[in-house]
Amino acid sequence: MNLEYDIIIAGGGLSGLTAAILFSKDYNVLCIDPDSYPRHKMCGEYLSNEVIDFLRTLDIDLDQETPVNLEQLNFTTRDSKQIKCHLPQGGKGISRYHLDYLLFKKASLKATFIEDKVLSSTFNEETFIITTSRDQFTCKQFIMATGKRSILDKKLERDFIKHKSPWLAVKMHYKYDMPENLVELHNFKGGYAGISKVENGHVNLCYLATYESFKKFKNVSDFNKEVLSQNKHLAYFLDNATPVWEQPITISQISFEKKLTVENHILMLGDTAGLIHPLCGNGMAMAIHSAQIAFKSLEPFLLNQISREQSLTDYSQKWNKTFRKRLWIGRLLQGILLNKTYTSIGLWFISKLPFLLPIIIKKTHGKPI
Ligand SMILES: Cc1cc2nc3c(=O)[nH]c(=O)nc-3n(C[C@H](O)[C@H](O)[C@H](O)COP(=O)(O)OP(=O)(O)OC[C@H]3O[C@@H](n4cnc5c(N)ncnc54)[C@H](O)[C@@H]3O)c2cc1C
Repeated sequence: MNLEYDIIIAGGGLSGLTAAILFSKDYNVLCIDPDSYPRHKMCGEYLSNEVIDFLRTLDIDLDQETPVNLEQLNFTTRDSKQIKCHLPQGGKGISRYHLDYLLFKKASLKATFIEDKVLSSTFNEETFIITTSRDQFTCKQFIMATGKRSILDKKLERDFIKHKSPWLAVKMHYKYDMPENLVELHNFKGGYAGISKVENGHVNLCYLATYESFKKFKNVSDFNKEVLSQNKHLAYFLDNATPVWEQPITISQISFEKKLTVENHILMLGDTAGLIHPLCGNGMAMAIHSAQIAFKSLEPFLLNQISREQSLTDYSQKWNKTFRKRLWIGRLLQGILLNKTYTSIGLWFISKLPFLLPIIIKKTHGKPI
């Protein structure tokens, strides 16, 4: 096995896979992820249309892959009040099982993949030494695309990892009859849930809840019954939908704290650089977009036209210019949604001035790339 690469990417989720496709056109790339494909992943599975044209340039045509075009939003409050609006940009309903596998198949045409976990990275002037559980590799540039939280964050003693995060998430696919173009977003005490279709007709229920609200209940089923079902729209869904998996997927310790885009000369991609609140439905597009920004910033360095530090600074500046404001608005919206009084005031405004909702949604998204 080759042990030297131009680029090594830890993490083969959306950002890592997109980077693997882009860099492997001209450079030798190793992508390391502990899991095999296809696999289900925690996600609301609403992919904003802002990256659809870009994916087409990588020969991934999502119009061919999913019939689900999400265009309408039905938002309900925890006391079951309802507001409907058109989604300004819209998105695709596509499972991570299918989407990640499409990207993996494309990336593995040129990039090397191994199923392993990156345990550490060391930087020696010009080269990174990457240690996995089985091997050691070297590369010119190391990219971390390890998602929300990983062992590497701990090794690097990144700031956000030192704090406990109060969020956990639950996801389950169901058989359920609902319009194909609709995203439902339902607020409940301590969290919110998204419901929408994916490419095979299944319906994804994915929610984020505070650990504080969850801990009184023994399991997901009791929490669904006692808390989610207080919103009558969620109660209707849970009474009428049939689960297609035996168990839901759950994860905890989801952090929305600010992160740095470059640490120890390592370039951070996707959620590793910053996670937007899922209610914005923009994390997947940001992960894919961040890989495009990384490619444009790093290529002059790989061609020996600029220094590593110049290219990493360029990446950080472009990342901040593109995403910082969205993350801030996401944080603000989540704060409002989890406070009953603020939600009531906000909803009063929106019910009087309904054109405000699409404007707010637009602020959490970017222009098509
Ligand atoms: C509850 C919830 C709902 C969401 N809903 C939506 C939505 O509807 N729409 C949307 O656009 N976004 C949504 N998001 C956000 C979206 O899922 C993420 O932003 C997106 O997956 C980020 O992609 P990524 O490549 O950064 O990370 P990931 O896709 O998480 O990939 C990270 C990869 O790194 C690997 N890895 C971890 N540690 C190591 C290691 N040490 N070595 C090697 N590999 C490692 C993992 O196995 C994983 O495959 C949601 C997020 C949450 C929490």
